[in-house]
Amino acid sequence: MDRLDGPARLMIVSDLDYTMVDHDEAENRSLLMFNALWEACYRHDSLLVFSTGRSPTMYKQLRNEKPLLTPDITIMSVGTEIAYGDSMVRDDAWEQYLNQNWDRDIVLEETAKFPELIPQSDTEQRPHKVSFFIEKAKSSEVIKLLSEHLEKRWLDIKIIYSSGTALDVLPKGAGKGQALAYLLKKFKDNGKLPLNTLVCGDSGNDAELFSVPGVYGVVVSNAQEELLQWHAENAKNNSNIIHSTERCAAGIIQAIANFNLGPFLSLRDTKDFINCRAESFSPGHEVVKFYLFYERWRRAEVEKSDHHMQSIFYSLGIFVHPSGSEQQLHKCKDMMARLYGDKEGTQYRVWVDRVSSAQIGSGAWLVKFDKWESNGEERHCCITTVLLNTKQAEAPDGFVWVHVHQTWLDGWQAKDQAAWLF
Ligand SMILES: [Mg+2]
Repeated sequence: MDRLDGPARLMIVSDLDYTMVDHDEAENRSLLMFNALWEACYRHDSLLVFSTGRSPTMYKQLRNEKPLLTPDITIMSVGTEIAYGDSMVRDDAWEQYLNQNWDRDIVLEETAKFPELIPQSDTEQRPHKVSFFIEKAKSSEVIKLLSEHLEKRWLDIKIIYSSGTALDVLPKGAGKGQALAYLLKKFKDNGKLPLNTLVCGDSGNDAELFSVPGVYGVVVSNAQEELLQWHAENAKNNSNIIHSTERCAAGIIQAIANFNLGPFLSLRDTKDFINCRAESFSPGHEVVKFYLFYERWRRAEVEKSDHHMQSIFYSLGIFVHPSGSEQQLHKCKDMMARLYGDKEGTQYRVWVDRVSSAQIGSGAWLVKFDKWESNGEERHCCITTVLLNTKQAEAPDGFVWVHVHQTWLDGWQAKDQAAWLF
């Protein structure tokens, strides 16, 4: 919560399945497009929040499967668990609060009386969430009766139906909307209320997000029937909530543009990205641009020409390979030349996460980030530190890479270390 000194310029609060992540798109095109936009233009002064129905276990599984960025805040198990930062420090005060008028055992006792309710896997049963599957046709009747039963037992609960199949019983004070309202209050109390908040969702458990006062919202084009119905009944005339024409993460980018919340052109979606001048000339933009070039170079999607690389590296600079060996940066240019097109026709993708930068002198920047690459199932990551300088003869109007240092991120080392460059 304290990564930024002041209020966030933009806080995006997004659901994951079929909102940030399009499971129907094997190439992850729109997610990677969002990632490039976020790291180049927003990471330094904005906040990314994931709000998912998934439990911590299933959330981690998704992160291992998809090129998801590291959020600043993770809201899991339908707003019943909140965690902060890379190390996911849990908000115990929130969970304490949810104990009010909640008794998990009574919920289990009462729900057991409905054979229509099929329990979800053990990982999805959480301290403040009891979860089932139920056929759509039977859902309305069961929700009505179950509410009555639990009310008679003096519990303050909430039943949420999502994706035409999932039924969650939560404490009344829980849910994605309540968790967001709690966070906004916390930010406000600290004088850091985000200047703008954009909520993004596709299914029933996201509906609450759109009811939080003062937020912009996007119901993605591929939204589930229950959310579309909620939108038609509750938000049709609210110009702060749109139903995008684009799917998933592309719909989120569309909303950023629609509400004028900041830059909305992802370098990944820009044809002439090499010559693209960012609205804000920044180290984050430079790093995203280089690795996009690097991906396209190895996929043979950019022209093979020395011209692009000439101005990037400082000729006397050093590259410290994750194995520990050192190379002069100008020699890496020859290695780059040999790698041209070696991933052509494969699913090879490169993205950066957690870009942070600090100005350490006049025109000198220290930039730190995680550099990921994947090819099908295979995936590797290096923690990367780069010294950038704006005042070099090599690039009078851009950044020069003076020094590059990489170490493997624990658990994500490449088997063939020799094949790794940058
Ligand atoms: Mg979803």
